[in-house]
Order: sequence, then structure tokens, then C-alpha cells
Amino acid sequence: MADKIKMTTPLVEMDGDEMTRVIWKMIKDILILPYVDLKTEYYDLGLEHRNETNDKVTVDSAEATKKYGVAVKCATITPNAARMTEYNLKEMWKSPNGTIRAILDGTVFRKPIIVKGITPFIPTWTKPITIARHAYGDIYKNTEMAVSQGSKAELVVTDKDGNETRKLIHDFKNSDGIVQGVHNLDSSIASFARACFNYALDAKEDLWFASKDTISKTYDHRFKDIFAEIFENEYKAKFEAAGIEYFYTLIDDAVARVIRSNGGYIWACKNYDGDVMSDMVATAFGSLGMMSSVLVSPDGVYEYEAAHGTVQRHYYKHLKGEKTSTNSVATIFAWSGALRKRGELDQNSALSEFADKLEKATIQTIEDGVMTGDLFAMSTLENKQSVDTETFLYEINKRLRNM
Ligand code: NAP
Ligand code: MG
Repeated sequence: MADKIKMTTPLVEMDGDEMTRVIWKMIKDILILPYVDLKTEYYDLGLEHRNETNDKVTVDSAEATKKYGVAVKCATITPNAARMTEYNLKEMWKSPNGTIRAILDGTVFRKPIIVKGITPFIPTWTKPITIARHAYGDIYKNTEMAVSQGSKAELVVTDKDGNETRKLIHDFKNSDGIVQGVHNLDSSIASFARACFNYALDAKEDLWFASKDTISKTYDHRFKDIFAEIFENEYKAKFEAAGIEYFYTLIDDAVARVIRSNGGYIWACKNYDGDVMSDMVATAFGSLGMMSSVLVSPDGVYEYEAAHGTVQRHYYKHLKGEKTSTNSVATIFAWSGALRKRGELDQNSALSEFADKLEKATIQTIEDGVMTGDLFAMSTLENKQSVDTETFLYEINKRLRNM
């Protein structure tokens, strides 16, 4: 056998929970370690270890990602009341993804993995649609109140010298009602814009952005203006050189164009639009197990993961010794994405080529009719067969070995 591929810089490896933790080890053992002399800086983000370290391990892993530039993350449990008892937790630790995103100031890009035999509900979507969601502010950091009839609601801003500016929101003369205050930050919108422009250059795909600037002439319009200004000053020439476009339109028009499109672009969304549209796009493309995700910081740090969770139901089956058929594709693509990026940054073409082959072998396996249960239920291939979690990985390796 040929020598293993060497790495110069480590990947930051963030291990996780439940079924995805089981799959994590299998992917490394079956598909990566036989080919790559893998160098990682390992952080165990499994819930037990987060609890032992008072969640310091999550912060450390994010700091390491800043230092090295590329991380690969396994799905992790976000604790709720049930997990408090199940894991005997000291505290209801925050979502690791939220903590990491806050430290890296990143934007999440979700992209479906497309294979023959799994037809999107919108059959004209032959290329992936990547959704970028601005994950700061708007209604997710709102203040809201119920208002009784006879009240008057005003917007009051006090500047640093104590001067007040007031605007009437509504005079509730005739009815009870509701009122809501939201905000965003120029700095956050600018980070979001840069992350989107960088990702588009990286992916060599057009970037679309949309908001409701015709109605919201100050708030949404600010998003439009910041994107336009950063594009003009920092990215226009690079986009021209890459042969890609930045395109702004009204959100209504964007929705109509997306449905009529063939895919193959990045759709940047405000927080609420991204929340809703990412669910719509993911559902239309088929399976959660086929959705990859990458967090990109404005200064070009990348963290790759699967979009799905820890697949808890399958894990409990696994613990009882039963066979599972859990889809590992999105987690494999998290590894391949991180290895390819590491290869690019280190000018290690052997590593990037290995990542390409790993993805090709994975897609080939499914297109040959060998797949996990979730895809089996949807595939239109005639000679399809459903295999268990481990067999699927061995089947990929059969094809990878011959590349
Ligand atoms: P989930 O793990 O995504 O699973 C929901 C259901 O979707 C599964 O029960 C399974 O359906 C199906 N599914 C998801 N991924 C699959 C795969 N790879 N292969 C086959 N089927 C798959 O979501 P959840 O059950 O709501 O959350 C479980 C845990 O994950 C929670 O503790 C949550 O906090 C955590 N979570 C973590 C992340 C992250 O780290 N990024 C994201 C979301 C959730 P069937 O059972 O019908 O087969
Ligand atoms: Mg949502």
C-alpha cells in the first residue's frame, strides 16, 4: 500500500454525542486513518466532558479553531430538562454551536448533498441551494409587550448625552394589542456580508441577498446598503475575476426566483428568513442526513459539521445491541470539507484530492444503490438496498480503495 498522506497543520477535532459519536469513530477508522496520517488537536465536546470541564472545553475548542483556521465538529447534545437528569449535569450548559458561533462571529452555510435517485420535491432544483442565515438580532433578541387599550406605545432612543428621540409606534385607543422592539448592529451585518462574499468566492457560486427594504426603509434598507458598500469596496473586482455575481432583490422576488431556479447559488438571508427558508429548502431536497453545514468567520476561519443532531433514537437502539441504519453522509462531508480546506491552506494537494475522492466514493455508493434506511425510503433507483450503519461505510471504502 502507498504511503499515507501527510499533514503539516492539525485539524481541530470536536467530538460529540450519541449516535453521531459512534459514527465519528467509524468514519475515522474505516475511511480516513487507512489513507491519511491524521493530525488533529482533539477536543471532547461530548456532554459528559463538557460537564466535567464546566464547558471550558467548548471555549478552548473554539479558540483552537481561531488559531489553526479549520475545525471539524460532531453533533452534540444541547441540554434540556431531560438531559439534566440523564447526564446528572451541574448546569444546563448552553448549545456548543451557539458558544462557538459567538466566539468565531461566524455565519452558518447549509448545503444539500445531491445524489441521483433522490429527487428534490422541486424537480428543477438540479444543483444545490446553499442558505446563509444571519444568526444575530432581529426577533431573536427582541423585547415585546402586551398592551392594554388606552395605552400609547413609543420608540425612545437615548443617546450618549442623554438626549431622547421619540417616535409614536401606536396609540392603542380602540383595542388591546401587542408591541415589539428589535435591533441589529452595523458590525454584525458587516461580518455577515463579508462571510457571505468570502464563501461565494470560495464556492465560485453567485450570491443572492434579499430583504424587505421597500417597506422597512431604515431597518432592512441598512442591510441592503451595508452589503452594497462592502461589495463595491472590497469584493467587486474579486467577483468579476471569479466570474460570479452578487445580486440583491426584494425578498418576495427572491422567493419566486428560487422556486423557478435550477439551484447552484448561495442565498443569504436575514435571521428570520434564514430560519424558515432553511427548513423549507432542506425538506425539499430530501433528508436531514444529506445536509452539510459550515460556519465561516469574517476573517476566514472554517468549522465543518453535519446539519442534523445526534440521532438519539438510533443511539438507544444501538445501546440495546440492535443494528442501526444511520446516514453518515453529512458527517463524512464534514470531514472531507475540513480536510480539503486544510489541504488548500497548506498547499497540500494530496490531502485536498483525498477529500474529493472520499466524497466521490460516498456518492458513488448511493448511486450504485447501496444506502441507509432514510435514503432507501426515498430513492427511485430500482436496484436499491438498505444496509446498516457500518456496512454502508465499508461499501464506501470498497470504492475509495480503487480510486
Ligand atoms: P436529530 O438528531 O437531527 O434527529 C431527528 C430525526 O431525524 C431522527 O430521529 C431521525 O429520524 C432523523 N435523522 C436525523 N439525522 C439522521 C441521520 N444522519 N440518519 C438517519 N436519520 C436521521 O434531531 P433531534 O432528535 O431533535 O435531536 C437529538 C439531539 O441532537 C438533541 O440533544 C439536540 O440537542 C441535538 N442537536 C444537535 C445539533 C448539532 O450539534 N449541530 C443539531 C440539532 C440537534 P428517525 O428516528 O425517524 O429515523
Ligand atoms: Mg428553523
